[in-house]
Amino acid sequence: MQLSKLAKIIEPTIARKLFMLAREYDDVINFTIGDPDIPTPTGIVDAAYEAIKNGRTHYSANLGIDQLRRAIAENIKKEHDCSYSDDEIIITIGAMEALYLSLMATVDSGDEVIIFAPYWKNYENMVRLCGGKAVIVKSCQKYGFIPQIKDVENAITDKTRVIIINSPNNPTGVIYEKSFLFRIIELAKEKSIIIISDEVYRSIIFTDEAPSSIIEFPDIKKNAILINSMSKAFAMTGWRVGYAAGDKEVIKAMMVFQQNMANCAPTPSQYAAFEAVSHLKKYSNEVCTVFRKRRDVFMEEINKISKLSIQKCNATFYSFIDVSETGMDGERFAYELLEKEHVAVIPGIAFGKGYENYVRIAFTLDEEKIRIGINRLAEFIDKECETR
Ligand code: PLP
Repeated sequence: MQLSKLAKIIEPTIARKLFMLAREYDDVINFTIGDPDIPTPTGIVDAAYEAIKNGRTHYSANLGIDQLRRAIAENIKKEHDCSYSDDEIIITIGAMEALYLSLMATVDSGDEVIIFAPYWKNYENMVRLCGGKAVIVKSCQKYGFIPQIKDVENAITDKTRVIIINSPNNPTGVIYEKSFLFRIIELAKEKSIIIISDEVYRSIIFTDEAPSSIIEFPDIKKNAILINSMSKAFAMTGWRVGYAAGDKEVIKAMMVFQQNMANCAPTPSQYAAFEAVSHLKKYSNEVCTVFRKRRDVFMEEINKISKLSIQKCNATFYSFIDVSETGMDGERFAYELLEKEHVAVIPGIAFGKGYENYVRIAFTLDEEKIRIGINRLAEFIDKECETR
C-alpha cells in the first residue's frame, strides 16, 4: 500500500522498542514504562460502574460532560485562584490528545515549537505531525536540568509559535522553580509566544510545597494552555481522560477538531474522572503515598551504587541517571542490562540528543520489585566493571 508522507515521518521510539524487547523475558523487572502498576482507587472504579449501569454509555458533548468540566474549573479556582468557565475547558482522551489538539490549534506549517530537553519524545512527534518544527533547548545536570534563559532566548526566532513546558518533568523528575517559569512567561509575552504547559505529574510530588503552575501567573490565560490528566494522579492511564484549559477561542478550535477526530473522551471514564476530581486530595494522596514509599526505597537502593550519579527525585516516578562512570553509554547499558540481568530501563538518547550517557528508570513497580531490580543492576555494574 502506498502510505502517505505523514505516515512515514514518525519512527517507533527507542522506549517502545525496549518495552517490547523486555516482554520477551518472563522474569523481567521492567522499569521502562510510566504507568503506575497500582489499581485505580475503588471509589473511582465504582463511579464508572454506576455510570455504565445507568446507561451513561453514549457520546458526550464534544467538550466533555458538564459536571466534570465544572469540577475541574472549581479545583483550578481553589488551587490557583484563577477562573476558567465551562467552555474554557475541554475533556480529552488523556493528556496526549489534549496536547495534540492544542498543537493543531496553534501551530501552522513551518512554525517552530521550543521543547526543553531532555524531553518526552511524543512532543517532537506531535509537532512534526502538525507540520511544525521542533526546536530543542538542552539542559544539563550541572544546572539541575533547568534550561538556561540565555539558551531559550537564543532559540526564539520570528517563527516561534509555542514553548512546551513540562514540570514536574519526564524524564528528570525536576520541578521548575516559580522564578524560572516567570522568566519564560515574560519572554513568551514579549514575543507573543503561546505556552503549552503539561502538568500531568503535578500531584506526584514528594516536597511539602506544591509545584508552581503556569496558570498562577496574572493575565496568562490568553497566552497559555494548561494540560493535565487523570492518568498519573489517580492511576488511571487506561481510562484515557485528560483535559486542556485555555482561552475560549483556542478551546473552541480544539473542540472542532475533537468533533472530527474522536467526538469525545470515553463517557464512563469521564464519570470516573468526575469522582476522582471531586475528591482530588483524597485520591491523589492515596496514589502519591504509594509513590513516596517507592521513591524512598528506590533512592535507598540506588544510592548504594557508587558508580551512578543520581539527583534526588522530588516528583514523578522517574530518575534520569548518568551511567558514564560504568564505562558504558546509556544505550549499551540498557541493552546489556536487559540481556544479562533481565532489567529494562530506557537509554537517555530516547529523550534527546546529548543524553547518550543517561538512562531513565521508572520506579512504577512495587517495593520488592524495585529492590530486586536495583540489586540486579548493581550486580551488573560490578561484573561489567570487573571485566574491564
Ligand atoms: N505528558 C507526559 C510528560 C507524559 O510522560 C505522558 C505519559 O507518559 C503524558 C503526557 C500522557 O498522559 P496521558 O496518559 O494522560 O495521555
